[in-house]
Amino acid sequence: MISRKKTKTINIGTVAIGGNNPIAVQSMTKTFTSNVAETVKQIKRLEEAGCQIVRCAVPDTESAYAIDKIKKKIRLPLVADIHFDYKLAIIAAEMGADKLRINPGNIGSLEKIKAVVSAAKERGIPIRVGVNSGSLEKKYKHPTAKALVESALSNVRILEKLGFYNIIVAVKSTSVPVTIEAYRLLSQKVDYPLHIGVTESGIPKIGTIKSSVGIGALLAEGIGNTLRVSLTGDPVEEVRVGYEILKALELVKKGVTIISCPTCGRCKTQMEKVVSEIERKTRDIIKPLKIAIMGCEVNGPGEAKDADVGLAGGNGSGLIFVKGKIVKKVPESRMTSALLEEIRRLI
Ligand code: SF4
Repeated sequence: MISRKKTKTINIGTVAIGGNNPIAVQSMTKTFTSNVAETVKQIKRLEEAGCQIVRCAVPDTESAYAIDKIKKKIRLPLVADIHFDYKLAIIAAEMGADKLRINPGNIGSLEKIKAVVSAAKERGIPIRVGVNSGSLEKKYKHPTAKALVESALSNVRILEKLGFYNIIVAVKSTSVPVTIEAYRLLSQKVDYPLHIGVTESGIPKIGTIKSSVGIGALLAEGIGNTLRVSLTGDPVEEVRVGYEILKALELVKKGVTIISCPTCGRCKTQMEKVVSEIERKTRDIIKPLKIAIMGCEVNGPGEAKDADVGLAGGNGSGLIFVKGKIVKKVPESRMTSALLEEIRRLI
């Protein structure tokens, strides 16, 4: 059982993060925010995948004004992501953004930060101080963990001096060890909820690994209250990976967990094909369900028995288990369909 570090609770629209709240999975749209129809379409897909908070880039005035129109068509809390231009943050707040993400390192003078703070205060919305290795203030020569944390803390203090405490903090790096070290350090210094992630982690194949190692290591230490997996690709994949990380650490019970053996010289059935097909056809199940698909009698019956539903392969046939009991023996040609029948029965 992982014990979580105590933090304040901060509300992002209808979603509370920090405190004893579950770790929220978030993602970011990849459409032009000014294209309301496409952005709403992508947000709906994210919502279907289980995304709980969505962030949209606000690079121009048109995008800032689009927030109002987008908000009217979605249910998820919307975070406006602003760089460089503090006026966009103010418009985004006026247009109903549920949170502002700013990188104070590039937002400008104290006066500008003050203006953003007063817009957020007026509407009761939080600000995420999002420090990122790629856009760290120029005074830091290298984006070390210490520099990321120092920058984040100095910006948090600016907000606090302005009487603003509705804060979430992030210190993301493209380096997994730097990310881990930075969040460890940060979590000792603040009790604000932490938004965790490895930034710009790459294409899904590599980014999934980097994110799982970085985010997973932090969550295992009880650090992190909301997460975003940053992948170059469909944002729905970011949400799927986010949940898989939480599921792997048993921090959430949602959807299917497939236990499948790697196969070896004892396997006499086409397990890889069966596992891929079952994974594809059960992706949309929300109910927690443990499915074990094992190649032979060595670990097969044991694992399959321990699952809600399982398959233990044999010589050209397979045994189907439901809640620990063998319910049928089927030929290899029927293994996938028989397993799916039992899965459907259970959900
Ligand atoms: S369950 Fe059987 S087939 Fe699968 S890896 Fe273990 S010994 Fe090999």
